Amino acid sequence: MRRNPLVGSTGYYRLEMSKDNAHSPVLISRLRSVVGEQNVLVGDSERAAYENDAYPLERALPRCIVLPGAREEVAEVVKACCAEGVSFSPRGAGTGLAGGTIIADGVSIGLSRLNRILEIDLRNRRMTAETGVVNVQLSKSVAATGLCFAPDPSSQGASTLGGNISNNAGGPHTLKYGVTVNHLLSAGVVLPDGEMITIGDKTEDVNGYDLLGLVCGGEGTLGIVTDATVRLTSLPEAVHTLLCIFDNIDNATLAVTKILGSGIVPAAIEMMDKQIIATVEDAFHYGFPRSAAAVLIVEVDGLEFGIGRQSETVKALCRDCGATEIRQAVEPSERAKLWSARKKAIGTLGRLSPGIVTQDGVIPRSKLPEVLREIAKISVKYNLRIANVFHAGDGNLHPAVLFDPNIDGEVERVHTANREILMLCLSSGGTLTGEHGIGIEKREFMPLLFPAATLDTMSLIRACFNPAGLCNPGKVLPLDHGCSYELTGRLSGAAS
Ligand SMILES: Cc1cc2nc3c(=O)[nH]c(=O)nc-3n(C[C@H](O)[C@H](O)[C@H](O)COP(=O)(O)OP(=O)(O)OC[C@H]3O[C@@H](n4cnc5c(N)ncnc54)[C@H](O)[C@@H]3O)c2cc1C
Repeated sequence: MRRNPLVGSTGYYRLEMSKDNAHSPVLISRLRSVVGEQNVLVGDSERAAYENDAYPLERALPRCIVLPGAREEVAEVVKACCAEGVSFSPRGAGTGLAGGTIIADGVSIGLSRLNRILEIDLRNRRMTAETGVVNVQLSKSVAATGLCFAPDPSSQGASTLGGNISNNAGGPHTLKYGVTVNHLLSAGVVLPDGEMITIGDKTEDVNGYDLLGLVCGGEGTLGIVTDATVRLTSLPEAVHTLLCIFDNIDNATLAVTKILGSGIVPAAIEMMDKQIIATVEDAFHYGFPRSAAAVLIVEVDGLEFGIGRQSETVKALCRDCGATEIRQAVEPSERAKLWSARKKAIGTLGRLSPGIVTQDGVIPRSKLPEVLREIAKISVKYNLRIANVFHAGDGNLHPAVLFDPNIDGEVERVHTANREILMLCLSSGGTLTGEHGIGIEKREFMPLLFPAATLDTMSLIRACFNPAGLCNPGKVLPLDHGCSYELTGRLSGAAS
């Protein structure tokens, strides 16, 4: 078994002990002068609230939390950190599932006060907002105009535009509408030395290198995104939402491949297994069938004309694959209730266990049946409950591994099981992450996916943006591969 070198004696992980804040009076006082005393949090309980995000297996206390209220303040905060040689990490809502916001003894820069919608440009179907705006607010603010911000992560009620950009978030409707980068036109970025730049363009075409494509998905290692202009998408004229019920998980996965193979591109195909169905039903009483082995939520949308034919085709394909029952959410309120239950599914697992790690491997859709069978074997092998709720149409799995950190050895078993799940995804021709990012959690797996020369190139790119390595260190690249100090030397050597 390959042991994570960071394992602590308690089973939980602590990356580093934090220094006392008394060690940074100069920095703290400079930060206070930038953002105001009330927006620099230094108390133990406040710091404890920021010691991890939604990835529960690692945590570390930040030195302090600073809450800037404007782009210029973000720049000044970054400059103050650089002057003191202190690392910093941008943080949105902290719903990230890969430990991307953990910053041992550094400054956690919370963007929640950057929460203004700056411009709604209906004629050009775009909107500019600060990046602390919560995802769902973007769509709500234009709902009356028949438009929306299409990326809809299940966390959209809490996660921010900045976190979505940095992790290139997807969601149930990514299948048809694309991930965050497909909806991003331009972004204001505070670089890791405090300089402010704008990348991309509010028009549709990018000239020069596509820096937006790098920063989107850069997991906060290339700078802090303070504002962004995003595309607005028309709400569909008609929507048909189906709940397709199966007594056999293989049949449900077969239906996924059949639907997509038929040429229909549903807006979403989501799957929930028996474990999740029961927990969601306990929480929301939607009427999910507890006896089912799996359900698919299949949504087709588009023009009124032809939508009925699409949903009838989906129903017929599901029946061919052995669906025992198909229900259609007719009223908008019923549809909203169904999606609400699906999007809150992971949260309901908190009723079953104090710890949940949600994996994010991606596999070719055709491999769904065998990979789900193997995950069931891993669950038995490590005596860990694993529930599956995921974006089946994208082959983006989210096995949720339930654990209790108070049980001796359980956290270690979770790590080993996670590793096996990710290896399974890779050996099935898949990748490490569909939307949650690499963060701290999966950085040591990167050499399994990329050869050294590719990782070198990624390190060089990071060093161009972040030569001092102070901006969100220890994320994305393996620790022994991402030393931007050495690479800076390589860069200057290449230049001379
Ligand atoms: C119940 C649940 C369901 C989820 N469902 C989905 C889903 O369907 N699809 C999906 O894609 N994800 C999902 N996630 C994961 C998570 O919500 C997303 O990754 C989200 O985009 C993170 O947003 P955040 O504001 O919480 O970012 P944070 O967790 O605060 O940060 C995430 C990363 O972005 C960086 N960052 C944050 N803000 C900025 C900024 N302004 N500039 C630069 N870097 C920044 C951070 O340093 C960190 O690396 C889910 C999470 C939970 C808990």
